Amino acid sequence: MKSKTIAEINEKIANEEANVFTSQELKELIREDNTPNFDEVDVVTCGTCGIMSGTAAIFHLDVFEPGLFKKAKNIYLNGVPGFVGPCPNEWLGSVDTIVYGTSHSVKDHSYGGGFLFKDIIDGKDIEIELESIDGEKYSSTITIENIPTAQMIGTRMAFKNYTSFVNPSKDPVSSIFNGIAMEGNFESFSFSGCGEINPLENDPDQNTVVPGSNILLNGSKGVILGNGTRSSDVKPNFMLTADMHQMEPEFLGGFKTPEGPEIFSSVAIPIPVLNEKILKQLMILNHKIPLPIADIRGRHLQLSETTYEKVWNNFDERPIFHEDKCIKCSSCLVEERCPTIAFTTTFDETSKQDKNLDTEKCFGCGLCKYSCLGGVFEMNTGSIAIDIDDIVHDVPIACRQSDIKRAKSLTNKLKNMIEKKEFKL
Ligand code: SF4
Ligand code: SF4
Repeated sequence: MKSKTIAEINEKIANEEANVFTSQELKELIREDNTPNFDEVDVVTCGTCGIMSGTAAIFHLDVFEPGLFKKAKNIYLNGVPGFVGPCPNEWLGSVDTIVYGTSHSVKDHSYGGGFLFKDIIDGKDIEIELESIDGEKYSSTITIENIPTAQMIGTRMAFKNYTSFVNPSKDPVSSIFNGIAMEGNFESFSFSGCGEINPLENDPDQNTVVPGSNILLNGSKGVILGNGTRSSDVKPNFMLTADMHQMEPEFLGGFKTPEGPEIFSSVAIPIPVLNEKILKQLMILNHKIPLPIADIRGRHLQLSETTYEKVWNNFDERPIFHEDKCIKCSSCLVEERCPTIAFTTTFDETSKQDKNLDTEKCFGCGLCKYSCLGGVFEMNTGSIAIDIDDIVHDVPIACRQSDIKRAKSLTNKLKNMIEKKEFKL
């Protein structure tokens, strides 16, 4: 069997001779029956983007004067609570804190850790409120410039396996696994996962994606620490870390659900093609990747199964907004529901409504198409046929909790960095 080493690939990268493909480029070549051979491919950049709840950030906030208070007891960043410590801060003024990506603001229940991390990385002013052990309260404003340490830890990221959900009951079910309370009677379908471009789908035995491997987390160079919490051979995921100062705000953010805001992140991992077996595993395509369908009530009752081909192949990655068709409903369901606050209404001086779709914030979830009363969003997200007791339910895909466009964008970025010698394996 032919083989090469990581050192040999790194040398090719240094000499600008490495053949680097994104996973989506490789899959297209396979579909065109034009698969490269072992000598023609050195690295494949794989990626994923989706809600990854097990995300936290460790901050050192250099915000108050030394001696101002003895010890911090509680701290809030834009209303989002952090855990003070673990290192004590006696008389230092500055505070170490851990903030969960899934923590919710105590002031605004549609804001949480995911939105906060994006705002920090975006360089926005962050309001800090602190309560000392003496009960005194202090407040200040900070930007990322005054946060010498900002390290993200993903305790379980880039999962290989997901479950998709439907609601067979009559009543709506509130869950973090859909952007709104999921309507009953098989009226909507939600799923996560980027299928054939996911790193763990492409290296299922974890031959090359190992602790210490370099990665991109939200655009910042980071490393794999190991497997994440609840990871198993059958359902693996990664624990990852990277410095938030180098992250790019477009790759992460908050995602509203009826159970409060969650956090989404983007991960890209290079797979070095060390031997022909690794190349063969990189040939995985969406139609071979199962996607179990479960009852959203309880999550574990599997009702049926589909594949990632049925949810990603040939569907639209983003909606088109036809503003001229908008009937200006008195209460806009899309604005209320859009999980990333990409769709908003502004009013001019004559109180005329103006609807805005922020394409950079948009996650491509599809909830606007599903929800709009005027049918002004053009987006084909597909539907899934589910056979239960010989009755076939054609269930529209209403909410995608992974963003294939962002995932592809990060795999492209990683490929470019490798080609420019800015990223070594
Ligand atoms: S697809 Fe629609 S609902 Fe989803 S994030 Fe984009 S604008 Fe919002
Ligand atoms: S629900 Fe659709 S038609 Fe109604 S205001 Fe919102 S965008 Fe316009």
